[in-house]
Amino acid sequence: MALLVQKYGGTSVANIEHIEHVAQRIINTKNEGYDVVVVVSAMGGETDRLIRLAEDLHDNPHPRELAALLATGEQVSVALLCMALHKHGFKARSYTGWQAGIITDDSFKKARIQKVQTETISEALNEGNIVVVAGFQGVDSNGNITTLGRGGSDTTAVALAAALNAHECQIYTDVEGVFTADPRIVSEAKLLKHITFEEMLELASLGAKVLQIRAVEFAGKFQIPLRVASTFSDCPGTLVTYEEKIKGKVMEQPKVSGIAFNRNEARLTLLGVPDRLGIAGIILGPVSEANVDVDMIIQNDSADGTIDFTFTVNREDFNKANEILKKLATELDARDVVTDNKIAKISLVGVGMRSHPGIATKMFTTLGNEGIGIKMISTSEIKISVVIDEKYTELGVRALHAAFRLEQGPTEEFDPEG
Ligand code: ASP
Ligand code: MG
Repeated sequence: MALLVQKYGGTSVANIEHIEHVAQRIINTKNEGYDVVVVVSAMGGETDRLIRLAEDLHDNPHPRELAALLATGEQVSVALLCMALHKHGFKARSYTGWQAGIITDDSFKKARIQKVQTETISEALNEGNIVVVAGFQGVDSNGNITTLGRGGSDTTAVALAAALNAHECQIYTDVEGVFTADPRIVSEAKLLKHITFEEMLELASLGAKVLQIRAVEFAGKFQIPLRVASTFSDCPGTLVTYEEKIKGKVMEQPKVSGIAFNRNEARLTLLGVPDRLGIAGIILGPVSEANVDVDMIIQNDSADGTIDFTFTVNREDFNKANEILKKLATELDARDVVTDNKIAKISLVGVGMRSHPGIATKMFTTLGNEGIGIKMISTSEIKISVVIDEKYTELGVRALHAAFRLEQGPTEEFDPEG
C-alpha cells in the first residue's frame, strides 16, 4: 500500500476542534487506501510558552534541559490526535521522537537527524495503525532528548518520508501553499502549482517562511516530493519537486517563479582600506569568527590604492558587526565605517532564468522607473537580488510582480495533453 507522510503544524492542532478536524482529514486519507504516518507540531503557541517559562527561571537554561522541556509540547498533541482517531474507531498509536527511532547528533537545540530506525513504526503500520509521531525531536546516541530547531517538525516529516520511502510528504499548514509573492503585500499573487527544490530553497532562505530550510534540503537530497497545502481547505497546494519531474508535464519554466523579500538586513562598509593581498579575508575573518553570517559582498578598488569593502548581515547581527568593523578600521588604517540598517533585499527566483537573458535588465529598469535606487546587486543561476531602501519594499515587490506578469501564473506552461 502506498504510504503518505502528513505533517500538521501548530495552528492546525491549536485546539480540540482543530485536532478533530485534522483527525477527520487523516481518516479520509486512510479511507482512500493509503497507509498514513502523521507528524504533528505542538499546539500553536505552546513552544513559545515553554521557552518563556524556561527563560523566566534562568537566563541561560541548559540546552539539554531546554530540549527535554520543549519536547513535551509535541507529546501532548500526538496523544490527543490519537484519541481523536480512536473516537472514530480507527487504530492509531502515538510515538515520541525517540520511540519512533529518530537518532540525532547531540546539539540539543538544533540537532541533525543521523538515521531513522523504522522497525517500530513499520510494525505498527503493518498492524493497521495510523502512526502519529511527535515532530521536532529525537534522541542522541547517549539517550538524551534533542530538538531539531524551530520549525523542525517539517524536517521530522521529510526524514520519515525518506526512511519509509513514502509516495509524498505533505506539509499541512495555515497557508494554501507557495505564492508568486507574499499575498499580504501583493493581492494578485498566484498560488504556484509546483516549484523546484532549488527554487524553494532560495525562497525559504530569502524569508518566505513556509517550510523549514533544512526540510527542503533534506527533501531535495532524497528526492522526496513535498507538498505544501492548507489544513483548512481542499486546495491541492504547491508541489515541491525536482526539475525533470516538472519538465515531464511542463515544457518550459516561467522565467520568474516568485519574488521574495527580506527586510531583516543591514549593510556595512569599510571605506578607504589600504589594499593588500588577501584583504577580503582579513576583514571577514573576525566577522565569521564572531559567528556573524555575511550575505552579499562587494569590494571596489580605487585608483589611490585603497578599497571600499561592503557587506550585508542579518539586522540582529548589525551591532556586533559594526563593533568589529570599527576596531578593524583602526587596525587597518581605513578612512571610515559607514552603515545603513534600513535596507531590504528583494529577489527574483526562477529556474527558467537560466535560459532567459535580460531578466536582470528588466528588473533594474522596473525599479528605476518607480524611483527606487539599487544599492547592491547579486546574482546566481536562478536568482537576482537587489538591496534597496527598506521603505520601498512593498512598492518594489508590487512593481516587479506586475512587470513580470506573475498575476497570470506560469504563462509559459505547456500542457502536452491540452
Ligand atoms: N513546535 C516547534 C516550533 O514551534 C517545532 C515545529 O512546530 O515545527 O518551532
Ligand atoms: Mg512550522
